[in-house]
Amino acid sequence: SPAFAGKHYAVLGLARSGLATVEALSASGAKITAWDTREDARAAVRHLATIADPTEINLAGFDGIVVSPGVPLNRHPITGRAAAAGVPIIGDIELFALARPDLPVHKVVGITGTNGKSTTTALVAHIVRNAGRPVRMAGNIGLPIMGQNPLGPGGVYVLELSSYQIDLTRSLDCDIAALLNLSPDHLDRYSGFAAYIASKARLFAMQSSGHARIIAVDGPETTRLADTIDGVRRVRAAETGDQSHWPALQGPHNAQNIAVALAIADALGIRRSSAEAALASFAGLPHRMELVGEASGVLFVNDSKATNAASAAPALAAWPPMPNPRIHWIVGGIAKEDGLGECGDWIGHVARAYTIGESGAMFAAALNGRVAVEECEMLGTAVKHAIDRARPGDVVLLSPACASFDQFKDYEARGDAFRALTVSLAPGARPVA
Ligand code: ADP
Repeated sequence: SPAFAGKHYAVLGLARSGLATVEALSASGAKITAWDTREDARAAVRHLATIADPTEINLAGFDGIVVSPGVPLNRHPITGRAAAAGVPIIGDIELFALARPDLPVHKVVGITGTNGKSTTTALVAHIVRNAGRPVRMAGNIGLPIMGQNPLGPGGVYVLELSSYQIDLTRSLDCDIAALLNLSPDHLDRYSGFAAYIASKARLFAMQSSGHARIIAVDGPETTRLADTIDGVRRVRAAETGDQSHWPALQGPHNAQNIAVALAIADALGIRRSSAEAALASFAGLPHRMELVGEASGVLFVNDSKATNAASAAPALAAWPPMPNPRIHWIVGGIAKEDGLGECGDWIGHVARAYTIGESGAMFAAALNGRVAVEECEMLGTAVKHAIDRARPGDVVLLSPACASFDQFKDYEARGDAFRALTVSLAPGARPVA
């Protein structure tokens, strides 16, 4: 489409979504200046863009600086430079919003929250697909929005939006916007919890009146926020009722994800029976309460995506004692503001904790006296010790309540390492289908 003919954008950060953005902007007629600190990433776009660092050039005349959500804008020189030149800093989602036709034939669903975004996004996409409508997932789920083929009538874009992505968006008018929950996370990039909540709230502020707003009011912060926004449809995890037919969607946190997904399906005009049938065929996502193995009656569960205490707590809640506590909990990494937070409420489910990573000593000290705890430092040590201790019926659970970057490239690498260790260390371990 010629949507960007005559425009001039700088693109900062050329990993997957940055690369897709350069390609799509170039195809739609824009002039591009591109930069990445990595030489190989710059080389990949040399045929499409002028290579220059936007923090070192005159930004006058640019229509926007497109940055990846990974760029910490609160402490990056581009922020001051762009403000001085009066050029907006935006993300690829904003380009998508700008390129939408005035009377779009498709619908856009935006999903945000501290935890459960990816699961709910994948679930909504699955429900839409199951209803026979064309669907595209994009955003924080890891699929770039730019360069995807446009959707025709009845099509639905399901966008997973982190607070950083919302910060980089000004014109996104979601037909349906949904908020799952709010707990303190990413506070290194915000002045405080209130600023983080305000960032999420902008998703609703950008909507036209009459468009659907869905908020799960299971927590005090989302409840308070819902009271400040007109026309909110309030949903609750408790509405979900019996979850037993949906193997990939167990636990109270998934009840919330289901309640929100069903409300979104309703707003899209999808029949309840069709949406509920889709829940039964949903396979779940890797690294989120993923059963990766079973050996001698012990289950191995990879919940590496639990990068904060609020997302690890429901994992601990999932296996009550019967009659003894069953969870061998591998925990630690780079701790968030709230440390072990709500995980403390479920400590009675934990047979033994094995701490790893940077926060290992601190967590061990915090848990000591409440539950048996071993400071293991390394994931391999923790898995080995947990295998030695676990009895049939027990669960070895990696749900670290922490970021992974002290010891791993990302949470996926941490979960992959756990899976590989399970297979190599547990005698007779077999993968679970
Ligand atoms: P996100 O994309 O928001 O990080 P995911 O769906 O990837 O969320 O889930 C991240 C982690 O949070 C997983 O460990 C999962 O078990 C947990 N989780 C999922 N949904 C919720 C929820 N609604 N509330 C709290 N924790 C959740």
